[in-house]
Amino acid sequence: MLNPVISKESIQQAKRLIDKAQRIVLVAHVSPDGDAIGSSLALWHVLKQLGKQADVIVPNNYPGFLKWMDGVKDIVVAEWKDALAARMLHNAELIFCMDFNIPKRVQQLSGLLEKVPARKIMIDHHPQPANFCDVTISHPEMSSTSELLYRFINDIGLDGLINKSSAECLYAGMMTDTGAFSYNSNTPEIYYIISKLLEKGINKDIIYQKVYNHYSESRIRLEGYVLYKKMRIFEEYNAALITLSFEEQKKFQWKKGDTEGFVNIPLSIENICFSVFIREEEDIVKISLRSQGGFPANEFASDVYTGGGHLNAAGGEFSGSLDNAVRLFEEALPRYKEQLTIKN
Ligand code: 5GP
Ligand code: MN
Repeated sequence: MLNPVISKESIQQAKRLIDKAQRIVLVAHVSPDGDAIGSSLALWHVLKQLGKQADVIVPNNYPGFLKWMDGVKDIVVAEWKDALAARMLHNAELIFCMDFNIPKRVQQLSGLLEKVPARKIMIDHHPQPANFCDVTISHPEMSSTSELLYRFINDIGLDGLINKSSAECLYAGMMTDTGAFSYNSNTPEIYYIISKLLEKGINKDIIYQKVYNHYSESRIRLEGYVLYKKMRIFEEYNAALITLSFEEQKKFQWKKGDTEGFVNIPLSIENICFSVFIREEEDIVKISLRSQGGFPANEFASDVYTGGGHLNAAGGEFSGSLDNAVRLFEEALPRYKEQLTIKN
């Protein structure tokens, strides 16, 4: 049995909105990750089984390591099908906001999301949710939106509609947001939920292989290059930095998802408790930040760049050159020196 997490009031309100709506759209955040796609598709499967007309919209494409998920081909990528995405949002009676809590996280769709007449339900686990939904189911203490969604589906009495496909999506979402259950995953109930998903017929070993063992040769060589040539250790601050220019990515035929997880690697060095990965895109610089223990990666992301996220996993953007993004990192470290001391 699971202890209740979501308030009864939210469950009742959400249930009423689902009952009343026929056209339902699920929207996930830009650069959707395993949790965003996993939770959206899992709920999509359940809603379709309920007889609803459901669609998943994401601002831009999802990474290749999620392509095996049942339903992924039906996802509307707004960047490619903007008119269709806009029409769906306009026509929706109910919109689920999955794995994000501020409209800005759906980028070009944010204006429309706030404007359209549909009622909105947020299901998310990031801190500090904005107030733009009719029902806000926001629990930062959850490992993932997928875990929270499992509880939600259970609470509204629809767990019988979780089939193997949705169970696979839920498991993949939980797995990817916890580094295959290596962080943020120390509560017994996570494993109770996994046991329930296994009962639905998922094969967790195969899901792991599909997500993590799908690399191209150039991706593996890129990892070698990055660790050998591009990783800098700031011993005094227990911190690590990896940078990657646009040119370097071209050289290794970079594609979406290829650098996923790079930021975590330096954390396996003894004493490193803060790791940052800065990647140059054509028109913007992307930053990924990870920490261990109490160091607030999200605070660093919002103070130094434009960004946010969780205590131990955050991200952000910088509109400037790669060199300047690095400079900001180097200048910020001394300000955080005290917090960067070893916490073990
Ligand atoms: P990643 O490093 O995997 O891109 O992002 C890690 C986490 O940081 C995400 O799950 C999300 O919570 C947060 N995040 C990533 N990029 C941004 C951003 O641009 N703005 C905000 N507010 N959060 C971000
Ligand atoms: Mn998530």
